[in-house]
Amino acid sequence: MPELLLTPSPQLLARHDIAGPRYTSYPTADRFVEAFGPQDHQRAMGRRQDASLARGQALALYVHIPFCESVCYYCACNKVVTRKRERAVDYLRLLEREIALQAQHLERRPTVSQLHLGGGTPTYLDDGQLAHLMDVLQRHFGWTAKAERSIEVDPRTADSQRLAHLRALGFNRLSLGIQDFDAQVQQAVHRVQSTPPVMDLMQQGRDLGFESINVDLIYGLPLQTPESFARTLNTLVELSPDRVALYGYAHLPERFKPQRRIDEASLPSAPVKVQLLAGAIHTLLDAGYDYVGMDHFAKPGDALAQAKRQGRLHRNFQGYTTQSEGDVLGLGVSAISRIGACYSQNAKTLEEYEDRLLRSELPTVRGLALSHDDLVRRAVIMGLMCQGRVAFESVELAYLIDFEHTFAAELEACQALAKDGLIEMSSREIVVTELGWFFVREVAMLFDRHLQADRQRARYSRVI
Ligand code: SF4
Repeated sequence: MPELLLTPSPQLLARHDIAGPRYTSYPTADRFVEAFGPQDHQRAMGRRQDASLARGQALALYVHIPFCESVCYYCACNKVVTRKRERAVDYLRLLEREIALQAQHLERRPTVSQLHLGGGTPTYLDDGQLAHLMDVLQRHFGWTAKAERSIEVDPRTADSQRLAHLRALGFNRLSLGIQDFDAQVQQAVHRVQSTPPVMDLMQQGRDLGFESINVDLIYGLPLQTPESFARTLNTLVELSPDRVALYGYAHLPERFKPQRRIDEASLPSAPVKVQLLAGAIHTLLDAGYDYVGMDHFAKPGDALAQAKRQGRLHRNFQGYTTQSEGDVLGLGVSAISRIGACYSQNAKTLEEYEDRLLRSELPTVRGLALSHDDLVRRAVIMGLMCQGRVAFESVELAYLIDFEHTFAAELEACQALAKDGLIEMSSREIVVTELGWFFVREVAMLFDRHLQADRQRARYSRVI
């Protein structure tokens, strides 16, 4: 089977198993500054208004619903764990206020080509609340004929009636958070759900005509073994979702409080983690999935796999997308927007979010206006992450630079990755090889000026 030749060896995975950004943006969100406030965001939207009048560019919307009924111990998301349902009622009122406020600064009834509801747990909202939210969005935005409307679904909070309601509201894509089918692993991470209802949901989703169903898995969780994870993958293959996101668990208990409840002794060792990943890649490729990039797989007929083959893959805060590079308006607590050459992030706590909105202020608390250097590097990094190639001439023409001169040090550093067969380099371009796709963020990291500057500072400190 030729696909299996593309599976990276455990040795290669171990050698390139380095922590790094996922590059849903460049610069990454940890570089945003508090000096960037509501007025900067407002100005960026004003500039968009002018530009969109000329180009009629569609908008993507991300709406964050932060509530969860119980905490998963591996969680690193911005969420509020509560069973007090009235908090969602108050939050929706604020969200409605924000939507109206943001819309004032945009062109009249902007056209939306993509909507994603994420969290937290969007299905924490009941049917009436979801319908109301969609109604509010409908009032302020227009939609393209083929608009993608996706929602993250926690199978523990959804049944067939709920799916039918989501479909009736216009959602056409689902993302199911599974993580692992093994009962012991589920208990160790405090996210217990039995497999048969998930199987039913999947079938119902298909019967209802959802165009694409994604399943999230995580490797590196407590008590996972190559054998137990192989069983999970076999169940996944039986479920046959259109897309699979396979994330690696990063244990950072000093940063993420819920992770302190995970017994470190129960975590798979680094070599076992590599085995888990290698086994998962092998199983998914063998089952006929295409490797899309980073941690994403899709069936060859799925829009994401097609976009990859046709060089139309893009990336935004939700990961890979078929939507062309455009503006994203983030709504809700902690949501991030990308408008033109600016990123802006909303208040991260419900208190501050509420405080701003009750004063009728945009809830932007930090962000970044990209410099020319950031824009050039964003083009290079997104080219690598999405198309797997950077043609020097196209960057030179778009940004008026001499590529080999500007990136002399980076090109030098690329040699080591070329030697390992992860990229191919010529005087005209860098191409990520099929094997290199599994390590594409490592290639991108070489062009991340902020990261490289930190590394140099760190090296300097050690020498002193
Ligand atoms: S992983 Fe998802 S469902 Fe679990 S606590 Fe975090 S945000 Fe909530």
